[in-house]
Amino acid sequence: MSHEDQLYAMRHSLAHIMATAVTTLWPEAKLGVGPVVENGFYYDIDIPGVTISTDDFKKIEEQMRKVINANQPFERSEKSVDEGIAWAEQAKQPYKVELLNDLKRSGTTLAKDLDADELGTIAEGDAAVDTVSFYTNGEFTDLCRGPHVESTDKVGAFKLMRVAGAYWRGKEGNPQMQRLYGVAFDSKEELHNYLQMLEEAKKRDHRKLGKELDLFTFSDMIGGGLTLWSPRGTQLRNGLNDFVQEMRDEYGYQEVTSPHITKKELFEASGHWAKFADELFKIETREGHEFAMKPMSCPMHTQIYASQPRSYRDLPIRYRETAFVYRDEQSGELSGLSRVRCITQDDAHVFCRTNQIEDEALKIWDIIDRFYGTLGFADLKVRLSTHDPDDMSAYSGDKSKWDESVAQLQSIIEGKMGQDYISGVGEAAFYGPKIDFMAKDALGREHQVATIQLDFNQPEGFDLTCTNESGDAERVVMIHAAIMGSIERFLSVYIEHTGGRFPVWLAPEQVRVIQVKDSDEVDAFVAEFTSALKTAGIRFSTDASNESVSKKIRNAELMKVPYAVVVGEKEVETSEITPRLRADLAGDDSAESRSTTDFITAIQSEVTSRSQESTL
Ligand SMILES: [Zn+2]
Ligand SMILES: [Zn+2]
Repeated sequence: MSHEDQLYAMRHSLAHIMATAVTTLWPEAKLGVGPVVENGFYYDIDIPGVTISTDDFKKIEEQMRKVINANQPFERSEKSVDEGIAWAEQAKQPYKVELLNDLKRSGTTLAKDLDADELGTIAEGDAAVDTVSFYTNGEFTDLCRGPHVESTDKVGAFKLMRVAGAYWRGKEGNPQMQRLYGVAFDSKEELHNYLQMLEEAKKRDHRKLGKELDLFTFSDMIGGGLTLWSPRGTQLRNGLNDFVQEMRDEYGYQEVTSPHITKKELFEASGHWAKFADELFKIETREGHEFAMKPMSCPMHTQIYASQPRSYRDLPIRYRETAFVYRDEQSGELSGLSRVRCITQDDAHVFCRTNQIEDEALKIWDIIDRFYGTLGFADLKVRLSTHDPDDMSAYSGDKSKWDESVAQLQSIIEGKMGQDYISGVGEAAFYGPKIDFMAKDALGREHQVATIQLDFNQPEGFDLTCTNESGDAERVVMIHAAIMGSIERFLSVYIEHTGGRFPVWLAPEQVRVIQVKDSDEVDAFVAEFTSALKTAGIRFSTDASNESVSKKIRNAELMKVPYAVVVGEKEVETSEITPRLRADLAGDDSAESRSTTDFITAIQSEVTSRSQESTL
């Protein structure tokens, strides 16, 4: 058994152990399903008249330990479906009766309205079922296909985490059950590390930091998922976007600008109208024409390309546009910056010939590497997201074109970049295969970030061509290249990755000048210093309030300002300052005193080189 399988069996067995404990404590408990989920397991439970709260966790965990210590073997037995139903009826387990009846009726355990994930407790397969398997530990028996560990003592370290309401089979209108979640790992140490990671994640929650660091806000009067960016947040966004655009310009991208709304016909031709109908914000003009807020800029760029005859000599043509795009997400799905309705997309499009795809993709790859490397995400993982050769219904264009372009991307990843990759069969966009990049954050969580996406469909739909060497019209290829993808989603990752401790070049406030005494001399020093900072283009603020010095320093720390500079009589006397470095920037030595000119020069060089560390 692989380690993964073992972990799976262990977590699943803990679901049984938890159900054993719950039915011991509340014999009237009715059980739903109890699958394995990421890092742990859950069980859907319905106890008439009882609401389990976190206060009950200790009691349940203690009971679970008793079961574990009792060293009960998991014993498999088989019954006919009818015997199984009789057993479940006698055991007063109506949800199990329902599952078994579905099994009997449809010959499959995958009842139509029950998604596969929820169905952890019973077998898959579509052959008619005559027998079902049960597992017994001690007094407790459950309908289940396994696998389990050998006996209840063979489980690792676990902890109950939360309880949440869940409809039976995830369907509104069905009885409301309680979903009891636990996490489990091989060792106490792994569990401890995981819990610590969760604690740290809570501290770094971008919604919390966004407020504390005054980066962004939402307003009920404006609506959910519509982010308002403060001056600090805007600075941060611009800093990131400028970096991306600077690299694109090196590779010959040109900035274009397109409107936020467009006629329905454009998105019909691009295929978005049919594909994303529910997510489009639709507008009707006073003349009764249908428009939509753009969900992406791509189709607009095709019209800039198509506005002039293009020769093969003009290609590749590369357009970039960082723009707000709009998706009508459901209110319940909105979450901080992770899921918003107004998205800043840093998309770019290359229009080129087939034999130019490789070169262009490598240039984009280089931008991605530099961007994520500079921001402290080492070793991006690569996924090749393709069509599903067995089911082309979700993809436009013919299969041979798809196969060909997948092979092309494959050769770029393996041949040119020498990279391993994960295959994402069926993960492609409807218009073409793509290379997805995955970054691991400081807490070890993986996020999908950039993409390089081939598109043969829009050039077809919009009849995009160039005149080739023989004077014929030749179909061009479109490559979509999003580096951050959505600035909002990227920032939700990056804020948590850094815990809000942005490198100097990105920090909305780079220097906090802390004035400690109100005298003409100190005033004059501060005025001269801040004027030099301003001239040097350094972002700073001055704290001349009546708070104590330590309070002012603390305030600068809370805002995670990289450098705090105290100015008082000593500084005036020596004409030197001693910058205080934010904890993560401070090396072994504390910063030395230096002239304000030296200090400013150092910051400027950190900004120019987009350094992650301090040079002070
Ligand atoms: Zn089981
Ligand atoms: Zn695009």
